[in-house]
Amino acid sequence: MSAPNIETIVSLAKRRGFVFPSSEIYGGLGSAWDYGPLGVELCNNVKQAWWRWMVYERDDIEGLDSSIILNRLVWKYSGHEDTFSDPLVDCRECKTRLRADKLDDGKCPNCGSTKLTEPRPFNLMFQTHVGATAEDDPNALVYLRPETAQGIFINFANVLTTSRRKLPFGVAQIGKSFRNEVTPGNFIFRTREFEQMEMEYFVRPGEDERVHQEWIDSCFNWFTRLGISGDDLRLYEQPKEELAHYAKRTVDIQYRFFPERSEDERQWDELMGIANRTDFDLRTHSKKPEDADGKRLNPDSTEDLSYFDEATKERFYPYVIEPAAGVNRTVLSVLMDAYSEKTNDKGETRVILKLHPSLAPIKAAILPLAKNKPEIVALARSIKRSLQPALRAVYDDTGGIGKLYARQDEIGTPFCVTVDHQSLEDDAVTVRDRDTWEQERVKVEDLQEDLLKRLRT
Ligand code: ATP
Repeated sequence: MSAPNIETIVSLAKRRGFVFPSSEIYGGLGSAWDYGPLGVELCNNVKQAWWRWMVYERDDIEGLDSSIILNRLVWKYSGHEDTFSDPLVDCRECKTRLRADKLDDGKCPNCGSTKLTEPRPFNLMFQTHVGATAEDDPNALVYLRPETAQGIFINFANVLTTSRRKLPFGVAQIGKSFRNEVTPGNFIFRTREFEQMEMEYFVRPGEDERVHQEWIDSCFNWFTRLGISGDDLRLYEQPKEELAHYAKRTVDIQYRFFPERSEDERQWDELMGIANRTDFDLRTHSKKPEDADGKRLNPDSTEDLSYFDEATKERFYPYVIEPAAGVNRTVLSVLMDAYSEKTNDKGETRVILKLHPSLAPIKAAILPLAKNKPEIVALARSIKRSLQPALRAVYDDTGGIGKLYARQDEIGTPFCVTVDHQSLEDDAVTVRDRDTWEQERVKVEDLQEDLLKRLRT
């Protein structure tokens, strides 16, 4: 079948409790979304998969969880106060606000007018004030972080000394970021509050280009390991004029988020960016970086974030390779890629969400074939309880078996376990596979091990 568009996913997500429009009972809040019972599980599973891959499966990466609100000076020296802006234009006809860099043909996508204002920079950082001070007290002004990365750079020396690391090593962080986007939209693709999974990998200058390429390949593979088809992923080399002020090279991994558009109409958009940030960040936050004229560039920092190599007796600022992905865009791509439809023998079309088992919100649904038979219900409930510590299982008896299967297929549950009359005799249950609809009889005592084995493959 052809790929689903985002609207299909929005409707499934709302119908089944993955994602709801936020503040809906008060008329909503533009482009804000709440993750429901299944959505929160899916997000957590994406984050766990990323953390396992980054931190547990390697031996050169540490984790961190830094504050959302940081000292304002962090954003001064990172360059965000001056440059973290999008070019904003207004349509003179319909007054819509637009991002100049996202307009393909210089026309307002709302009314088609070409009468647009000149672009002007619009800073994307949300402002707030700390403490019981006057609203306009400039000393109380702080920002909600627009990226998690800076929290890692300012902790570079802390992590280095406490973990006794040597280059190369990385620091990974998952957390919320906030950007006052000019044109949020497309469901959870672009929102003002979102979650990032970022890792800053510190290397010797000179090794940066090779390591950057290794991370590009590794990140692409990670998305395919999550079950996303390689046909819907591609690499995009950012041209020089698109590069951020700190970047030597950036390659994005793009996903085909907009399959309904024609090829030349931006079918693809960013899922993850992998940047070579050079030594910009550690240098800019250091107390005594000197430029060519010997001028002191940062009088506010109390720390020098350079690195001393014991073996070569050299001191330098490490280069940084940064794979930065969005939790929400990963969730969206995973949902889009998993969506499929299948017609059963009665000619009814069923939605099947072929999520990778590690991402599925529920791993097994325990279903009694007859809910009016207390012994069957009791056995099914006790099976659910016994599985629960090892894997996320649910019990459901609120419909006929066909309906219960369809419900689980639609939310991506890899296995349904049916308890029937025969189970009371032979202590066995039927395990049904979501993707093949094949059924197999398994002894109750072997069920947990059997399911865990199936989930691993
Ligand atoms: P874009 O060009 O789409 O605005 P970006 O290049 O500014 O994105 P980065 O700063 O590289 O994004 O952030 C890393 C990742 O964070 C992105 O690849 C994306 O997955 C996620 N992300 C960034 N902005 C948003 C947003 N407003 N809503 C949801 N996810 C976002």
